[in-house]
Amino acid sequence: MAEPELVDVVVVGLGVGGEEVAERLAEAGLSVVGVERDLVGGECPYWGCIPSKMMIRAANALAEARRVDGLAGTAQVQPDWAPVAKRIREEATDTWDDTVAADRFIGKGGRLVRGSGRLDGPRRVRVGDQVFEARHGVVLGTGTRPSVPPIDGLADTPYWTNHQAIEVEELPESLLVLGGGAIGLELAQVFARFGVQVTVLEALDRVLAVEEPEASEVAAAALRADGVEIHTGVRAERVDHDGSRFTVRGGGAEFTAERLLVVTGRKAHLAELGLDTIGLDGSQRYLPVDDRLHVTEHLWAVGDLTGEGAFTHIAMYQAGIVIADILARARQAKAGADASGTASVVGGAMGASSALAASGSSGSAGTVPRADYRALPRVTFTDPEVGAVGLTEQQARERGINVQVGFTKLSGSTRGWIHRVGDEGFIKVVADADQGVLIGATSVGPAGGEVLSALVVAVHAAVPLSQLRHMIYAYPTFHRAIGDALRDLS
Ligand SMILES: Cc1cc2nc3c(=O)[nH]c(=O)nc-3n(C[C@H](O)[C@H](O)[C@H](O)COP(=O)(O)OP(=O)(O)OC[C@H]3O[C@@H](n4cnc5c(N)ncnc54)[C@H](O)[C@@H]3O)c2cc1C
Repeated sequence: MAEPELVDVVVVGLGVGGEEVAERLAEAGLSVVGVERDLVGGECPYWGCIPSKMMIRAANALAEARRVDGLAGTAQVQPDWAPVAKRIREEATDTWDDTVAADRFIGKGGRLVRGSGRLDGPRRVRVGDQVFEARHGVVLGTGTRPSVPPIDGLADTPYWTNHQAIEVEELPESLLVLGGGAIGLELAQVFARFGVQVTVLEALDRVLAVEEPEASEVAAAALRADGVEIHTGVRAERVDHDGSRFTVRGGGAEFTAERLLVVTGRKAHLAELGLDTIGLDGSQRYLPVDDRLHVTEHLWAVGDLTGEGAFTHIAMYQAGIVIADILARARQAKAGADASGTASVVGGAMGASSALAASGSSGSAGTVPRADYRALPRVTFTDPEVGAVGLTEQQARERGINVQVGFTKLSGSTRGWIHRVGDEGFIKVVADADQGVLIGATSVGPAGGEVLSALVVAVHAAVPLSQLRHMIYAYPTFHRAIGDALRDLS
């Protein structure tokens, strides 16, 4: 067997989190091998956030045009999927080609290795016949894949996951969506607004079940207004495809459509990663990490596979911590080597010493930030948008917190009243009465995700309620309703 090749860091999986770590460490002068088996950039740019938000932008333009009646005259709307598909192909994904991202990584000094990577003992990664040994350690950023439930018959049918839904060039006449979470609702609303007859089947008793019940109600009502049929409490028991149509049986009923989209959650595939070669259990659902994203001393993980929240902003946030940690260690190792008069241990051939010095990164592990998810923001980009941060009321009560809740409808605010059609939404704030701070909030409305930012600051910085109450909220904005919700705290 060939000797392992010695490098500073190996990053397995160049999705959002892994790409950020690999690029920034390479830029700082470390010798970095990035291993990717599909597209550099991962799910978000090719089959996730970016193309789905392009679809949503287009669908919302249609919805706004349909709101002209009664506000500004009349408008006739003729939906056409072709420009959406073209934009996704040409602008978002380069027809699912990652040359630009791959070249960017290589341009920053990284070495891209195409293939599937797996651990091969401590600090070692195997990709086919190649084995790399990482001086500082290995970063796993292998993400998740759609979790397809073991429903009778499903595996034998040509069902869609988010990949086929994003790549679609011609819309079906009807679509069944299995799963009423954020991704299911966003795509259901898009397709409905383009004229597809959409039915959502959700096993739980409400859609968007992780958010406040009031948010589920508003989102469900908005989708129904767009013509989406929603069935909650329906657990699919059997799926059939007769060559042209799907039939899903569940909850004593039968649902049929031309296409079936399965969006019932995502799953990390830890068993493929060789975790057993370092004595770790590969059968877990997610890979547990500490607050510096360490799995072990020389193994870090970032992004969806850590189970801390399947969001691009979590992957990026975690990547920032890992980068700071590795650079701090590299500086310490270099300082130790310099003091003992030995050769540089970081990026010798790549001129790491000067590059690291120039990078301005912290030289002390003590200054590496620790992950804190108290103020994790999440946005479901339906129309109206559902933005949320921190704990829901129920989560806070389950933790035994002395909870106060404030609630206000957007339609009762000046801006909501002016907005009129499409003004569904609310602000709900959840406070810890003993501490006098917000610990959670939900902002649903036409700009729910943007209004959320003020609430994220409040939760993140634990701004005292007394200060939030005495802030000036611009008139007549949607975010001014935050003041109303705070006044309602009881
Ligand atoms: C439809 C949809 C919409 C979304 N919208 C949003 C949104 O609006 N906002 C938001 O914040 N998040 C959104 N997300 C979630 C977001 O896409 C993910 O949180 C993000 O992509 C996670 O990044 P990651 O780095 O963990 O992994 P991924 O992006 O999943 O990348 C992992 C990479 O690792 C590679 N890989 C896996 N195993 C190996 C291996 N053994 N060897 C080599 N390579 C490997 C994969 O090929 C992949 O490229 C959406 C997701 C979907 C599906």
